[in-house]
Formats: sequence, structure tokens, C-alpha cells
Amino acid sequence: MKYKLIRSNRKHLAIQITEEGELIARAPKRMPVREIDAFVKQKRQWIEKHQSRAKMRERMKKSFVMDYGASVLVLGYEYTIHQENTDRIFLDQKNGFIHMPSGLSPEEIRLSVIDFYRQLASAYLTGRVGVYAPKIHVKPAAVKISRASKRWGSCSGKGNINFSYRLIAAPPDAIDYVVIHECCHLLEMNHSSRFWDHVSKLCPDYNEMKNKLHAVSERLTMQNL
Ligand SMILES: [Zn+2]
Repeated sequence: MKYKLIRSNRKHLAIQITEEGELIARAPKRMPVREIDAFVKQKRQWIEKHQSRAKMRERMKKSFVMDYGASVLVLGYEYTIHQENTDRIFLDQKNGFIHMPSGLSPEEIRLSVIDFYRQLASAYLTGRVGVYAPKIHVKPAAVKISRASKRWGSCSGKGNINFSYRLIAAPPDAIDYVVIHECCHLLEMNHSSRFWDHVSKLCPDYNEMKNKLHAVSERLTMQNL
């Protein structure tokens, strides 16, 4: 089996499949190649399963076109993109539509969805931080919306909280978990058991929220959002 070998100052060997389905072995500096080969061979079934999943995801991503009639998630609900005689984008919550100007190309529609996500994320997440920060007794310096695609939120040493615009696709309870998570980092800048104690006081079922977020992330990635 072919793999890319990355050696570093680590103690243990680990393998990883990238989003593109490439196999990467991360090994300690002096570990013999035959040992790495043997490990990879032993993990063959796991590797093949995950590689075929990654390849299927890539195929779906490549064939996906964001056009009128496509459906996107907003706060955990499905909304159909609908062309309208309008020059702005707006949400019709009652009927489950996102109305957009007509005549947009698939790429323009995709960028419009991102723009819409950013605006909604900014207003919604600022509001949720306003709900939870006082409960946690913290005062974030600022709430910002980022384009991060690998994580939902982050917290800086200066007390700024950043959220990815993608978060607005998730259901409200999962969004609240991320808000609580980042606010708790203003108390504990790590993922220690003390940190998780703080999180679980306001969000006892955070593991379930992580699963929900994972599903949302897969969906967004597939739609290039
Ligand atoms: Zn964290």
C-alpha cells in the first residue's frame, strides 16, 4: 500500500486519511520502515474503508452544482433556493425558501449563500454570546465571523471569539454548544477536565452536539460551502 511518510519528534506511529483519500503515516524519527510497513498492512481493512469513503465524498463534491432548486441548511432546517424578482437575498421561513435574484450562475449562487450565512451568523452568534457570556461570567472582547472550514470556533489570548460562518447551518442546540465551548475557553484556555466541567454545566449532552456538528460539516463540505 502506498503512503506518504512524515517523520517528526513524536512518540508513536499514527496513520491518517486525508480528505482526498491519501494515506499518511506519521512516525517517530528513527522508526524502521519495515515496522511502519507492517503496521500499515495490519490496518489495511480500515484504510480501504476510509479511502473509499473519501473518494465517494470527493466524487459527490465534484458533481454537485449549487443551482436554483438546491437545498441548503440554515439553523438546522432545509431551505430551497428559489429565484425571485428581487435584488436581495431573503429567507422565507414559513415556506422553507431562500429567495435570490434570478439569472445567477451556480458560482454566484454559492457565493451568495456564503454571504447570506456570514450576515446571519454575525447577528445570530453575537446574540447567543450575549446570552451565555453572562452565565459563564466572561466578557469576550469581540465576536467575529471567519471563513474557517476546519473548525467551528476559536478563542484568542486577547479574548476575541471567532466563529466560522458555516456554524449557522447547524441546529440551534449544536450552535449553542460551540458558543458555550468558546466562552468557556475564556475561563480555561485548554481542553482539560476542568474545561469540560464548565462546558457540561451548560451543555451536558455535548457529545451528541459534536455528532450533529460532524454531520453538518460533511454536508457543507459536499456543497463546497
Ligand atoms: Zn476548544
